[in-house]
Amino acid sequence: MDYNLFDLDKIVAGIGHVPRNEIDDVKSKCIVCGRWITQEEDQCLTCNTPVVWVNSYMWKKSYGNPRIALSKLDGVEASTVTGQELIDKCNVVGFPNKKAEQDWATYERRFGLEAARSTINYVFNKTGPGSGGMAHAVAAARRRMRENPRQRTTKVTDGKAGMW
Ligand SMILES: [Zn+2]
Repeated sequence: MDYNLFDLDKIVAGIGHVPRNEIDDVKSKCIVCGRWITQEEDQCLTCNTPVVWVNSYMWKKSYGNPRIALSKLDGVEASTVTGQELIDKCNVVGFPNKKAEQDWATYERRFGLEAARSTINYVFNKTGPGSGGMAHAVAAARRRMRENPRQRTTKVTDGKAGMW
């Protein structure tokens, strides 16, 4: 996903001298539409592209730690049906890294949609939304693959899937 990452220190250094009382007014251009974006925005008002400012007191005051915002924006897209369902359910932008996404995809392929969904529900009921739920779901999938190295698919006959 494209997003605007502005480093206030670098921008100020590029401008040259900026008086202390004008630092909060420094803007930068949206990489998508070219609109000037202030340090009080977390998305472009014209094209909705997300905005993260680092080293900006103004931005941090409104939106918190920019590193956390970035890790959310850098999520890896799902390549599977249940991977996307997991992302949606956890209300995150993506998997935390490529390995996690691939492991989940392997899990879905080997154990089937229903087993993957029951893992999502199991984890979600336990931990709720957020990246914590994502991490637990991936860990549960890995554990199950480790414990069942030869299992290929799970037949669903009685409405109950998997071992949970
Ligand atoms: Zn824009």
